[in-house]
Amino acid sequence: MIVSIRPNSPKEKINHLIKWLDDKNLIVKEFHGNDQCVLGLIGNTKCIDKDMLKSLDIVESVSDMTDTFKASNRKMHPDDSILRLASGEGPLIGGGHFALIAGPCSVESREQLVGIARDVKAAGANFLRGGAFKPRTSPYDFQGMGSAGLELLLEARAETGLPIVTELMYLHNLDEFIEKKIDVIQIGARNTQNYDLLKELGKSTQAPVLLKRGLAGTIKELLMSAEYIMANGNENVILCERGIRTYEQDYARNTLDLSAVPILKNLTHLPVIVDPSHATGRADLVPSMTLAAIAAGADGILVEVHNDPKNALCDGAQSLTPEAFAELSAKIDRLRDALR
Ligand code: PEP
Ligand code: MN
Repeated sequence: MIVSIRPNSPKEKINHLIKWLDDKNLIVKEFHGNDQCVLGLIGNTKCIDKDMLKSLDIVESVSDMTDTFKASNRKMHPDDSILRLASGEGPLIGGGHFALIAGPCSVESREQLVGIARDVKAAGANFLRGGAFKPRTSPYDFQGMGSAGLELLLEARAETGLPIVTELMYLHNLDEFIEKKIDVIQIGARNTQNYDLLKELGKSTQAPVLLKRGLAGTIKELLMSAEYIMANGNENVILCERGIRTYEQDYARNTLDLSAVPILKNLTHLPVIVDPSHATGRADLVPSMTLAAIAAGADGILVEVHNDPKNALCDGAQSLTPEAFAELSAKIDRLRDALR
């Protein structure tokens, strides 16, 4: 249920109403915009007399919330959410704060990671990505460096100051991610509906969670996965469109669903980013799809960059060289200026 409060209503009266709703065991989400205050009620709202609520002098309107996604719903929070890192420092994400996340698919060595980190930072990236735990289709392929890879990410963060984004695959590694203060925890497409993992991410951390769309996930399923994290206490979720599985297999790894960006931006206040690398599987398609994603309204881009794509241990075909990334980053700046 959404309760819109009349502008300039006395704070004490609003607080009194919130306390009364709290006592009914409802979760009350408060949104305070410039001249707008909205109370979003989650829980058994049947116990509320809507007419009585409407009759209060501070209440402008009351409407039912029929959507299944609640905490992520823009009706609850009309402005874009702006996420901060748990450290309270570093770049913000969303609401005009653009996340340019770049780095290798997999952490392979200190030289590789720190070299790429320096290059992408110089080119304008404000986050470093790199997989330490890798979900590979084949068990015979490189599975990632694991904890040793996380250590290298920490070194690259210390050397460059770039906050790090890396994938958590298993619940049993969550404590390690928290101890190591991983800045943004990525949940990959294969784990988007691992609800136990999502619940625990809600309960145990306030670090932003970069939640990828499932391989064949609908937009609503992505939002419901975000709800699992938010309903359990962590509201810092970044949604990521990374291409979905369609009948096209020959010319693109996945099909980039760019319409998901404006659809999601309309439905939710959470930041929405695009990963053109996994969406296409082809480095030559990454620049045009990046620019298209930004034109569609994306709050950020996650792109794979490798110093030696031909010999990359994972996803070389879709990885940009540092030079190509620098060229793309300059174009991103020009496009964002033009769109302002
Ligand atoms: C990745 O970002 O390295 C990755 C494995 O992505 P996805 O989960 O989208 O396949
Ligand atoms: Mn990859």
